Amino acid sequence: MCGIVGYVGAQQAAPLLLEGLARLEHRGYDSAGAAVVGPSGLRVAKLAGRVRDLSEGLPKRFAGKIGIGHTRWATHGPANDVNAHPHTDASGDVAVVHNGIVDNAAVLRQRLADDGVELVSDTDTEVFAHLVARSTADTLEGKVVDALGAVEGTYGLAVVHADFPDRIVVARNGSPLIVGVGEKEMYVASDLAAIVRHTTTVAHLEDGELATVTAGGFTTFRQDLSRSATTATTLDVDPSAYEHVEGDTPRMYVEMLEQPAAVERALRGRLDERFGTAHLGGLNLDARELRAIRRVKLLGCGSAYYVGQMGAALVEELARVPADAEAASEFRYRNPIIEPDTLYVAVSQSGETIDTLLAVEEIRRKGGRVIGLVNVVGSAIARACDGGIYLHAGPEIAVASTKALTNMYVACALLALQLGRVRDLSIADGKRLVTALDELPATIDRVLKLEDDIAEIARELARHDSMFFVGRVRGYPVAREGAQKLKEISYRHAEAYQTSELKHGPLALISLDVPSIAIVPDDELTDRNVAALHEIAARRGPLVVVTHEGVDLAGLDAQRIDVPRLERELDPILLTIPLQLLAFHAAQALGLDVDKPRNLAKSVTVE
Ligand code: GLU
Repeated sequence: MCGIVGYVGAQQAAPLLLEGLARLEHRGYDSAGAAVVGPSGLRVAKLAGRVRDLSEGLPKRFAGKIGIGHTRWATHGPANDVNAHPHTDASGDVAVVHNGIVDNAAVLRQRLADDGVELVSDTDTEVFAHLVARSTADTLEGKVVDALGAVEGTYGLAVVHADFPDRIVVARNGSPLIVGVGEKEMYVASDLAAIVRHTTTVAHLEDGELATVTAGGFTTFRQDLSRSATTATTLDVDPSAYEHVEGDTPRMYVEMLEQPAAVERALRGRLDERFGTAHLGGLNLDARELRAIRRVKLLGCGSAYYVGQMGAALVEELARVPADAEAASEFRYRNPIIEPDTLYVAVSQSGETIDTLLAVEEIRRKGGRVIGLVNVVGSAIARACDGGIYLHAGPEIAVASTKALTNMYVACALLALQLGRVRDLSIADGKRLVTALDELPATIDRVLKLEDDIAEIARELARHDSMFFVGRVRGYPVAREGAQKLKEISYRHAEAYQTSELKHGPLALISLDVPSIAIVPDDELTDRNVAALHEIAARRGPLVVVTHEGVDLAGLDAQRIDVPRLERELDPILLTIPLQLLAFHAAQALGLDVDKPRNLAKSVTVE
C-alpha cells in the first residue's frame, strides 16, 4: 500500500518525484526514496522518515530526466534506511520500487544467497532488483518479465536501469499502477493524486500487464511479451480537489467539513421525488432482476465493513430482503457459498482494497453477481464488478475516512430505496425517504455545528486510556465506527460493544477510569438503552450519550450530545458524524498528527 511515482521527459525528474511523493504520503510514510538515471548513471537516495527529510538536497544532487520514487508501508522488515525503496542490485545499475508482497521471497532470497548474491535489506522487494540484474535478456522488458516469472505474489512495480536510460518498465498484479500521459513526458503512479497536477489522461494497467514508458509514449504488453490493448483515457476530475499543503488544517478536518457537499454530489440526479425512489443506472439491473434478489451481502474492510452493517440494516428495513455484512478480508477464506440470487455489494473508498478485490474475484469466479460502492472511478474493484454506484465524494486523502464513509451510507440508502420500491415499500414511504435524503446535507451541516461542545468532551475523554462505545441494533455499527476512528487517530483503546451484551461480561471493566460513549437514538429501544446506561452509572462509569433531542435519560449523570434528526432510517449516519469530531478532537488534544496515524496508510493494497 505504498505510493509509487515515476517520471520520464524533458524536465529534471527529482523535483517532480519529490512533489509526487509528498502527495502520496497518505499511502505509506514510514520511509521514502527515489532513484534517478542521469549523466552519472543511476543514483539512489532513501531514508526512514518523511518525504520532507528526503527533499533536503536531493534535486540539486541528482541530475537526470528519468526516475522513480516510493513511500513505503513496511510488510517485510522494519522501517529503516536500508529497507526503504528503491532497491538496487549489487552493481547499482537496476533500481526497483514495489507495492505489494512477494509471497515466495524467502525461497528466492535463499536461492540468490546460495548463488553468492549479497542481500542487504530485509525486504521481499530486493529480490526483484537482483533477478532483473541477473536476467540474460537483452531488453529491459525481457529482464523484468524474467524476474516476474520467478515471483509469486502481488505487485505494482516500476524499474529503471542505467543501461536503458530512456525508459521505465512497470508491471501490475494486484496493486494499482497507472501510466499518465503528458506533453512529451510521461508519468507512472500508484495513485492519481501523485500526478494529477500534470495530467489527468491515464491508462490503468490490468493485472498481469506491463508497460514500457518513454518520454514519447507508452506501450503495454503481457508477460509473454505480446502487445496488449490498454489505452489512456482522460478522467473527469478536478485537480484542485487534490490540493493540500502540508502544515495546513489537517486533511481529515477539511474532508469532514466537506460532507454536506459530498452528500449532495452523491444524490445528484439519483432521487425521484415523483415515484419516491432512486435511479441508479450503473447497477445494470432492471426491475425484474432486482425483484429476483433474495439476499444482499455487503463486503468491506474497516470502516467500509461497519457502513456495510449499517447498510444491511437499511436494506432489510426498506426492502425486506435478508441482508448482512461481512469483513471482506475473511470472506474468501471460509469457502463461502455463492448463491445466484444473492446480490453481493463490495464497499471500498479507493476501489483498490486488496481484500475486497479478492472477495469480488472469488464471487465472480463462482458465478455470483457483484456491484461496487466505490469512490475512485475506474479503480480495480469498479472494473471487476458487474455494476455499481460511484460515491462521488471527491478525492479522500486522509487515512481516517469521513466523507467517503458518509457517501457509502448514502449509496446504501439509495440501493435500499430502489430495491424497496420494486418490492413492497410504499410510495409514501419512498417519498418520505427521498425528502429526508434531500435534507441530509443541510442536516449534516447542523451536526457539524456541534463541534465546540464535542471538542470539549473529546479533550476530557482523551485523558482516559481506555473506553467503550456502546449501541444496539441500528446503533451498534455506529459504535463500532466510533471506536475505530478513535483508535486509529488517537491511539486510545476503544472497544465497541452491544449495549445489551455489556452485562454479560465487559461490565466488569467499568470504573471511574473507563468511560462509555453510548449511542441512544430515539427509537423503540430507548428505554432499554437508558436502563443499561444506569447500570454503567451505578458502577461509576463516566458517560457520554449521543442521542436525540427530547430523549429522557431518566436522571442519568451524563454528558449529552443531541444530534438533529431526519427519518429514523438515516439516524446511523447522523449519529456517526459527532463521533468523527470526537475522534478528531481527542487526537488534536493529544497533539497527534491525525493525517498520518502510526502504522496505518490509506488504501490497503496488501493482504
Ligand atoms: N513488501 C514491500 C516492503 O516491505 C513493499 C511494501 C509496500 O507496499 O510499501 O518493503
